Amino acid sequence: MQAVNLRSFKQKVRFNKVRLKKFLSKVLKEQPRGLDKLAADTEKEVWKEVDCLTCANCCKTMSPTFNAADIKRISKHFNQSPEAFTKQWLRKDKIGDMLNKTEPCQFLNLQDNKCSIYEIRPADCSGFPHLSKKRMVDYIHVHKQNIEYCPATYKLVEKMQALSKN
Ligand code: SF4
Ligand code: SF4
Repeated sequence: MQAVNLRSFKQKVRFNKVRLKKFLSKVLKEQPRGLDKLAADTEKEVWKEVDCLTCANCCKTMSPTFNAADIKRISKHFNQSPEAFTKQWLRKDKIGDMLNKTEPCQFLNLQDNKCSIYEIRPADCSGFPHLSKKRMVDYIHVHKQNIEYCPATYKLVEKMQALSKN
């Protein structure tokens, strides 16, 4: 497993994001046979190479969506009411989702990149970065966005594109 170098990741994104997003659009349009298996197999390779604890770029630059169950569970952990927790940490976006007011996430320990509420973190965090799902095509729009922030997503799409050329 390699440490993530966010500076070189950002450079690679600048050079390659248009190409990789075009590839994702093509995948969505053509929905090639065997796509979901390919994504699942490629994901295994990605996690042999990416160490999230050397990255945490998701927790530093994006906000998870907190659903009602997340808010209830996490506020209880802090002996707060869901309302008090929401008032302290969250804001509502244009479509009504509850997001962190600030980034990095208040629960990220910046010394070691660990989540201080890991066991009870939002469901959105546990599923992130949603690399291989039952139907990859349902997540193409997510990958298109995350490719610019998440080195694991970037690697998945890059590897899948390389394999599709063989
Ligand atoms: S709750 Fe934890 S895993 Fe989720 S964004 Fe915050 S620090 Fe990261
Ligand atoms: S999920 Fe992606 S952005 Fe988050 S720590 Fe892992 S590689 Fe980095």
